[in-house]
Amino acid sequence: MSGKLEDVVLAEPRGFCAGVDRAIEIVERALKKFGAPIYVRHEIVHNTYVVDDLKAKGAIFIEDLADVPPGATLVFSAHGVSQAVRHEAAERGFNVFDATCPLVTKVHVEVAKLHKQGYDFIMIGHKDHPEVEGTMGQLSEGIFLVEDVADVATVQVRQADKLAVVTQTTLSVDDAAEILAAVKRRFPSVREPKQQDICYATQNRQDAVKVLAPTVDIVIVVGSPTSSNSNRLRELAQRLGTEAYMVDAPDDLKPSWFDGKRTVGLTAGASAPEILVKQVIHRLRALGAVSVRSLPGVEETIQFPLPMGLGDKSMGWVEPG
Ligand code: SF4
Repeated sequence: MSGKLEDVVLAEPRGFCAGVDRAIEIVERALKKFGAPIYVRHEIVHNTYVVDDLKAKGAIFIEDLADVPPGATLVFSAHGVSQAVRHEAAERGFNVFDATCPLVTKVHVEVAKLHKQGYDFIMIGHKDHPEVEGTMGQLSEGIFLVEDVADVATVQVRQADKLAVVTQTTLSVDDAAEILAAVKRRFPSVREPKQQDICYATQNRQDAVKVLAPTVDIVIVVGSPTSSNSNRLRELAQRLGTEAYMVDAPDDLKPSWFDGKRTVGLTAGASAPEILVKQVIHRLRALGAVSVRSLPGVEETIQFPLPMGLGDKSMGWVEPG
């Protein structure tokens, strides 16, 4: 396919997941209930637009709890926190609301449960990502990170016979499967999670890109550079042989990318709001696109309940279909 820019094809599903929706809602409700400022540990979700919008409403983003004044209201980001951070916040007496995605909490609970049964862990994830710091920080020892297959060959564990594996929720599904296979080859008795830790939103957005990428000339992913799942979407499209770029805002689009291209595939990471997708479409229309259509995809209905003290009604937690 080549020629003049004509079609925009939208991946389905794309954009906000239930964990991101809930995390933003928690900060907004806290601002309404307690007034500004509300302190948030780390970016509530990895998206520049969302963070700037909440800053304008009175949220203050910090990394170090020493920067939070006594008695303040503090929100933990969707990525989760270590036990050390949780204890420090409690000791300092902050009014804490936990916006950790329930699917990350599920991994934390699994780690705590198996640790009590005497297991050590291999964690598959990206070093320095806050979710990995939070999950590894559920234990003070006995959890070992592998980022790729090469790490599996060299990782030094304390006990190979009682070892469980957990993963970051936003990995490439295909990479994680390859790394897990290497873990199982080296540690045949390793215990796997009953349900994979990679979340439904990551899986669905990657599945949608697998359908989208082969049918278009170029893929644009709306997402911030810090967003793990958005980066994975861009990489996936590229691996499938389609030129792909990630943009944080519509102004990041370069007209030269679309030279000789007729069809643009558009998706968004789980932390990117639909308003940015609309703005990108607007810009693509200015560059010559005439039609916009969506590919059919999985409908997501999952919702997570808000924490006590912020929800005025209890929303049911519906498992993804
Ligand atoms: S990407 Fe997955 S784990 Fe992360 S907030 Fe969304 S649903 Fe939760």
